[in-house]
Amino acid sequence: MNFADSEVVGAILRDAGHCLAESVDGADFVLINTCAIRDNAEQRVRHRVRELRAQQGRNKRLRIGILGCMAERLQSRLMAEEDNVSFVCGPDSYRRLPQLMAQVREGQRGAEVELSTTETYADIEPVRLASNGISAYISIMRGCQNYCSYCVVPYTRGRERSRDPQTIVAEARGLFERGYKEVTLLGQNVNSYRFDNVGFPELMAMVAEVSSLLRVRFATSHPKDLSNELLEVMARYPNICRCIHLPVQSGSNRMLKLMNRKYTVEWYLDRMAAIRHYMPDCSITTDVIAGFCSETLEDHEATLELFRKVRYDYAYMFKYSQREGTYAAKHLPDDIADEEKTRRLNEIIALQGQIALENNRQEVGREYEVLVEGESHRSKEQLFGRNSQNKVLVFDRRDAVPGTYRKVKVTDCTAATLIGELCD
Ligand code: SAH
Ligand code: SF4
Repeated sequence: MNFADSEVVGAILRDAGHCLAESVDGADFVLINTCAIRDNAEQRVRHRVRELRAQQGRNKRLRIGILGCMAERLQSRLMAEEDNVSFVCGPDSYRRLPQLMAQVREGQRGAEVELSTTETYADIEPVRLASNGISAYISIMRGCQNYCSYCVVPYTRGRERSRDPQTIVAEARGLFERGYKEVTLLGQNVNSYRFDNVGFPELMAMVAEVSSLLRVRFATSHPKDLSNELLEVMARYPNICRCIHLPVQSGSNRMLKLMNRKYTVEWYLDRMAAIRHYMPDCSITTDVIAGFCSETLEDHEATLELFRKVRYDYAYMFKYSQREGTYAAKHLPDDIADEEKTRRLNEIIALQGQIALENNRQEVGREYEVLVEGESHRSKEQLFGRNSQNKVLVFDRRDAVPGTYRKVKVTDCTAATLIGELCD
């Protein structure tokens, strides 16, 4: 989401006459787009801000601006704590950046942190900042009001609002015409996308119709809202990728209730069964939090048990990090010791690593259509790409070129990568 937002910021600043500097040494501004989801994300930003002090010593014109959720969360407190930061700008205020930066050039400091109920940046064509020319993100909605008890997002990104579907389809079409082969539709809970009479399943169909050669992905789905109607639409369009990211957070109903996730393990498993019914070849990935408030060893064991049952292809695994202002911070003690959180997290990581490897071993011998993305990191002789399930395949280059679809047969694997050879 931040990546997509930075591309919107890029477009706003370009239209105001700014351009990208080659390096920090020649820059007038460094803008850092930040995440506030866990404390370690914020600590990394603070570290970077302090590192930039040396460059500011060499380049007296250099000003630092903090964008995104950390700016929204801390507001001018951040400028008081980090005195080399000149301005903060929250996620709904990017249109005001040129003005804010002009003000800063005149020696003032500033904060723009108003949240909006309507801003979607729908009319802004993002500058594809670090794109490979093949795959791009399209933001389809902003904000979240699910208020999971641990989560800071509703406070930093404001109310949920959806973007006009015509502008989304136009952006996808424009990308396809420029040679892009894959778009990922982004929102905190895409299942609750709604603009007039267009819901998420209808929107997916509209984007999938742009071209059968344009792959369509999306993130993130909230399990409480994953409908059969969406699964039917996915199954109908082969260019909608066979991959669903469905964050579970915990395998214990008691934890899910405390987390305010509004579903049970039974409901979640029912949604898994539905996915496999409509698309037996669909990969499933998740997010999980270890050591949430009052989590017992039994609750933790229930999470491990769920992982064994579902057998995810990939998981993002986190230690609980208390966030100021959330329901959990106000009402639920953060009572699992840090070493114990780490121990539980490592147990989940080890189990998931083993499951991913076993899943990948079953792929050996299968053939997949792969969208070739670029050179493999290890060798110039090899390329990598992804299959519809979002698994990375590495294979000998031969006559393949990035940006095309090729058939690859899996011959070997690690827990993270499938190794294969061209077979078309
Ligand atoms: N909107 C998405 C996720 C957004 S945040 C969803 O609901 O699925 C991405 C992930 O960060 C969450 O799924 C959760 O696993 C994790 N996360 C959020 N708040 C956290 C916290 N306070 N501590 C640890 N992990 C957290
Ligand atoms: Fe946070 Fe829950 Fe919203 Fe996801 S759905 S962004 S976890 S409040």
